Amino acid sequence: MVSLNLLLVATVWTYWNHEPADHLRRMSSCASTVFTVGEWLPRWYDRLHGDELIGKVSGVGVDMVYCHFFKGFGLEHERAEMARTRDFVRKAHAHGVKVLGYCQLASLYWEAMLDEVPDLEKWTARNYDGSVSTYGNHYYRWEPCFGSREFMDYLKKVVRYGVEETGLDGFYFDNSYPRYCCCERCQTAFRQFLEKTVSNPRETCGLAHFRNVRLPPKLEQSEAGPEWHDPFQIWRQRFHHVQQARFLKELFDYVKETFGPDKITLHNPAYGRNNFERAGLDVAIQPKSCDFMMAENSRVIRAAPDGRLITQVAAYKLGRRFGFKVVESSWMTAQDAGGTGPQAIIPRDADTLKRFYAQGMIYGDIAGGPWLARTAKHGDRVMFDDPVHADTAANVFGFFRKHEARLFATTPVARAHILYATDTFYGWSYEAKGFHSFIDGTERLNAEAVPYTIVTEQDLAEVPSGDLLVLSDLRFLSKNLYGALAAAGARGVKILPLGQVGLFDENGKERAADDPIIGLSRVKGLVSDVPPAFKVSLSAGGIMAETQVNAKGEYILHLLRPGNDSTIGELTVVPCDPRASGTPELLSFEKECSLDGAKREADGRTVLAIRNFRTACSLVFRPR
Ligand SMILES: [Zn+2]
Repeated sequence: MVSLNLLLVATVWTYWNHEPADHLRRMSSCASTVFTVGEWLPRWYDRLHGDELIGKVSGVGVDMVYCHFFKGFGLEHERAEMARTRDFVRKAHAHGVKVLGYCQLASLYWEAMLDEVPDLEKWTARNYDGSVSTYGNHYYRWEPCFGSREFMDYLKKVVRYGVEETGLDGFYFDNSYPRYCCCERCQTAFRQFLEKTVSNPRETCGLAHFRNVRLPPKLEQSEAGPEWHDPFQIWRQRFHHVQQARFLKELFDYVKETFGPDKITLHNPAYGRNNFERAGLDVAIQPKSCDFMMAENSRVIRAAPDGRLITQVAAYKLGRRFGFKVVESSWMTAQDAGGTGPQAIIPRDADTLKRFYAQGMIYGDIAGGPWLARTAKHGDRVMFDDPVHADTAANVFGFFRKHEARLFATTPVARAHILYATDTFYGWSYEAKGFHSFIDGTERLNAEAVPYTIVTEQDLAEVPSGDLLVLSDLRFLSKNLYGALAAAGARGVKILPLGQVGLFDENGKERAADDPIIGLSRVKGLVSDVPPAFKVSLSAGGIMAETQVNAKGEYILHLLRPGNDSTIGELTVVPCDPRASGTPELLSFEKECSLDGAKREADGRTVLAIRNFRTACSLVFRPR
């Protein structure tokens, strides 16, 4: 396991701003969304750079923000705005707040930057037809290639300027996923990747060698349908993720080795969206390339009308497993009043804010959200001026800072585990179904109040006999991983396969129907449901359970309710681990929530009665 940078303990973050005013002016917009700034821009922007607001926000516990720095117009064009950031950094530091400088990795505003870099076009990513790739339909933003040495060297200059001239505490690298790029650099790198990773081209794709191969066209999977028969599409995705990992590691190492381990890196690969094959990120090949990773998607924690839970728990748990903290920037949407379709909005009710913050604390040992300094779209008003936002932040962040060491800077412990294995993400990438089958598996465990950890193929040998291993659709499954699963079953691990297993190998080759790998037909220890012994038993549904141990050896059972729109007067809880015995201490930022009693049943299980449970509480059991 990778250990977290200890300097990062007690992070309470908020967005400050992304963009220099020039971006907001150049982009403009004809939609009303969180991300655009209309005629109120100058007053709002001025207030963000002043002392008053950062002072107030630090007063409720915020200790890290990210602020505009480099948007891709160039160091020369952006120098005056960077000077404003430098002044803001001084003010923030006076209030004990660290500032990360925003660095855009996906766009070069060539109309401005050509003045500074006349051969800028050489850095760009290329479409399949060789044309320069642009950021969506923003024709005025060229996309850089992650294989461009010149682009990386320029970013290092930007980083150096940020530390030495601007006083930044670290960087927020936005859009940290590679563009689909068919430039000659990437063609060569792709061939080298294939030569290194595919040992038998004749057998896997009918070619004697890869010397003449080129990157395949981007698959528009919503049009192409659920299937294809081209292993190069799988290899292209793997190559992009390896290229991304290398790129981010080089940046991370540069920041840490040049400017010290206390300089912070946060990157935003748009984690958790419906496009694993295009954007996405394979965290298993990414460790030690960031301190924080942003999960920016639409999975705002909630209970759907049909009772399903939609959460960010998988991202937070992956962070615990791979050694980074998650900065969550998920968005709710609503119809835009201007009639341009659904647009991102900011929650204004305390229940949504409380469950969002509680989720980060419990699962990710972090508090905060992307709202407090967002414009209210009227003069210099921001969300923090809304008493619901200010009071909830003060209450919840205060609770986090007071109890963090005991309740949240902990080690997750559980007897159930879900396997993170990526072959199916790449193989079954139609609408990212393979990736989302993994997310769906975690949501099922969340909804059934099963405490669990995420394990990888490397961890399988250490899963103890008697524990439960959940496989969330492994329809693309290598022989190696199959062997590790069979060994775990033989050792006494219970295995719960969900969805399909083993229909194809890791390169997409279909298996014969009687192959025992399909459905794990000869593997011992299969179960068809989560056995009750692995669940926390609750008198009400829709409550998630997470279990951890703190540095003092105390065992903690956290409860969190995504559908927190009412208060449960009486809640009965029966933990599923013998460490949860005796009378626990109950802690909650909801003061009306309390422990009414704990009694021991004849079978040895502890039964707890909780009063007035709404969003979240933590039950702390003394070590036995
Ligand atoms: Zn390229």
